[in-house]
Amino acid sequence: MQTKYDIIAVGGGFAGTAAAIASARMGKSVLLIEKYNCLGGAASFDLVNPFMKYWIYDKDGQRVYLSRGIFEQILDRLDELGAIDEKRVCFNEEYLKIVLNRMCIEAGVDLLFQSYVVGAEAADRQVSSVSVSNVSGITKYYADYFIDATGDANLCHICGFPYRLGREPDNATQPMTLSFRMSNVNRDLFEKTKDQINPLYKQYQSQGKIKNPREDVLIFYTMNRDTLHFNTTRIIKLDPTDARQLTRAEIEAREQVVEMVDFLKNNFEAFADAILCSTGMQIGVRESRMIIGEKTLTETDLLNCVRSPEGIAACSYKIDIHSPDGSGTKIIKFAPDEYYTIPYGCLVPKNSKNLICAGRCISATHEAQSSLRIMPTCCSMGEAAGVAAAVALDKKSQFCTLDPGLVRDVLKQNGMVVD
Ligand SMILES: Cc1cc2nc3c(=O)[nH]c(=O)nc-3n(C[C@H](O)[C@H](O)[C@H](O)COP(=O)(O)OP(=O)(O)OC[C@H]3O[C@@H](n4cnc5c(N)ncnc54)[C@H](O)[C@@H]3O)c2cc1C
Repeated sequence: MQTKYDIIAVGGGFAGTAAAIASARMGKSVLLIEKYNCLGGAASFDLVNPFMKYWIYDKDGQRVYLSRGIFEQILDRLDELGAIDEKRVCFNEEYLKIVLNRMCIEAGVDLLFQSYVVGAEAADRQVSSVSVSNVSGITKYYADYFIDATGDANLCHICGFPYRLGREPDNATQPMTLSFRMSNVNRDLFEKTKDQINPLYKQYQSQGKIKNPREDVLIFYTMNRDTLHFNTTRIIKLDPTDARQLTRAEIEAREQVVEMVDFLKNNFEAFADAILCSTGMQIGVRESRMIIGEKTLTETDLLNCVRSPEGIAACSYKIDIHSPDGSGTKIIKFAPDEYYTIPYGCLVPKNSKNLICAGRCISATHEAQSSLRIMPTCCSMGEAAGVAAAVALDKKSQFCTLDPGLVRDVLKQNGMVVD
């Protein structure tokens, strides 16, 4: 059994999967370790859908895509399977799982599912191995370079790298949300009556009949006409990095699901025959640990649409902060043709020799993270981290001293927007 690799990526969400594929395509031996049974991360386990905005508009009003490379290839593969809508935002996550498996296997990535990284050997900001718990027992895997794409910066935390949590000054994070779906909805009736939902919801809330603190009911369409997706439960003031508080969040959110289903079924004919068909297999965490990086992306960088000379991914999604206090969502949109780029240094824990980060746990402030956390951008960051690991290996360089220009050159060849 192979236990030594060039590169080990931990976490098979969009970031980790893209990272593993990118490194493997550059000829490296790569192990991708995922705690559940498939890839996709929040899309697969939290039911997150659709893809938020990953484009700008040119002067003719045409879309110019910012997340390209591996993300675009995933969309094309979904399209071939009829598993994405014509706007390329709403997708079928069951097909996403098979697409990501196939792309990893074709690239030569070794996959290790149902495997949880529970420990690591690290000294002097250098990681030498990770310990993985699974049905085989506990096994050590070694690599020259490691990628933390766990969403929660779990590997960085285990290795003792410092992190930030939530907003200044109280460390409160964005709310957690257990997504759910209702099927057998009378869609025609829903279209006619959907504007009545929020006024009644607010009335119920003011009468204390709805406990959910969210200001409105957030509903998305799915690939199935009679199935609606709800991103509307809201769990506040619980720390997603504390297992007991996370458990409370799961329990409270499930009560909110039932509260919402009852509210809709009891008040709207469109939902009379609808059923609660699924909930995410875990509560969705928008924000948890973020590394302290060589660079940190801030709200000011975003508002100024800064395009860093060491940019490795581009993003145009709005600042979107679901209130950590209860009701309300702070939204600041960019002009239609504006975007910012994420500097390489935001992926690198300060002074890290061989551990890099990708996805929603990179180095950013609470405000900046609320924008870059979307799935397309996480995928782009993952591709960048995978390329960086392969380049670092070739150059025998540490991540903290690696020339970002070398990473950017490969990303440009891959068709990515980095400037
Ligand atoms: C409720 C909610 C709604 C959202 N809505 C949208 C939306 O509409 N559109 C959009 O584009 N984005 C949305 N987002 C944001 C987006 O889904 C996430 O930020 C993004 O998917 C994060 O990707 P990631 O790869 O960084 O992490 P994740 O997708 O979280 O992947 C991390 C992976 O690491 C694995 N893992 C963790 N720890 C370990 C370990 N120790 N060992 C092994 N494996 C481990 C996990 O199982 C997981 O598969 C939403 C997020 C939430 C929570």
